[in-house]
Amino acid sequence: MSGGDKLDFEIRPNPQPVSAAERAALLANPGFGRISTDHMVTIRYAEGKGWYDARVEARGPISMDPAAAVLHYAQEIFEGLKAYHAADGGVTMFRPDANAQRFNISAERMSMPHLPEQVFLDSLHHIIEIDREWIPASEDGSLYLRPFMYASEVFLGVRPALEYLYVVIASPVGAYFSGGVKPLAVWVSQEYTRAAPGGTGAAKCGGNYAASLAAQAEAIEHGCDQVVFLDAVERKYVDELGGMNVFFVYDDGSMATPPLTGTILPGITRDSLLALAAREGRRVDERPVSFDDWRADAASGRIREAFACGTAAVITPIGVVRTPDGEFKMGDGGPGEVTMALREQLVAIQRGRADDPYGWVH
Ligand code: PMP
Repeated sequence: MSGGDKLDFEIRPNPQPVSAAERAALLANPGFGRISTDHMVTIRYAEGKGWYDARVEARGPISMDPAAAVLHYAQEIFEGLKAYHAADGGVTMFRPDANAQRFNISAERMSMPHLPEQVFLDSLHHIIEIDREWIPASEDGSLYLRPFMYASEVFLGVRPALEYLYVVIASPVGAYFSGGVKPLAVWVSQEYTRAAPGGTGAAKCGGNYAASLAAQAEAIEHGCDQVVFLDAVERKYVDELGGMNVFFVYDDGSMATPPLTGTILPGITRDSLLALAAREGRRVDERPVSFDDWRADAASGRIREAFACGTAAVITPIGVVRTPDGEFKMGDGGPGEVTMALREQLVAIQRGRADDPYGWVH
């Protein structure tokens, strides 16, 4: 079948999978994003034909013509989500439908074809099923799934490509930050911004990350883990981190997070926290927070905690905020109480240890 909302996947198991012993050795210390599983999913698209040739096959290099459009004009989008061992022995994913929706929002912004949500979900089910042995059994381990799509058409003109390849690869991961849940030191970039109004900030496209690397390098040079981007117009308001959204916790128990105005990625963790906070009666404002207010409110104690959130790290406290003119701490620099309680609540839902009031776990 081709072009419809449902595709038949041809399954071609890897004839030379990694041995069980070697896999166990790799899974003992997976790190983040270093290890590949045995398989990948690929689906082709051609204008006029739709999606076709869906396969589950051995993970391996993809050959590409040097004039493949993605190599020149960067039509590429991706997603990131995790599969876990559930308490009942099954395998679960957290809100994969939200990733499917965001994938299509990104596709639209980058003038790429829509991928039916069901095909996206089926592709994830297929790779999980065939590479299930690669899901780490450890408490904070998971199988990170990386669906992506790129312009594969061989053509050097600047226009939306007519051919695309959708791929899913998977990588077993341990904790995102090697030290476990340790407060982050963040660097507030004065030099670089991430996304301007009307730009691609709300799309999960590779180019946004390429553009963030210089700022991230600057953060690392200053002894920080992550960069905080300010808005591109006034360089005044906090947008987000290089790969995470940000929340502030106030002394009255309320929280604030920057609004979705098109310059930040609409994080699925962010959205989940908004729902959980509302459910426990905690006020959360989606409103701009200026960097000057962050600094002043941290000093006065009005802002008690700040944290970053995203699929990879779930929720991570921000301990130290550094700029070229000095630094300040959040509280005593240690993990905040509200931050850690929210983290525990979300992780418990994701891991099937708590009620799932919104039907988020698949
Ligand atoms: N912002 C950026 C720039 C990101 O790359 C991510 C990670 N996808 C996030 C925020 C958090 O999004 P999510 O909670 O969906 O992982």
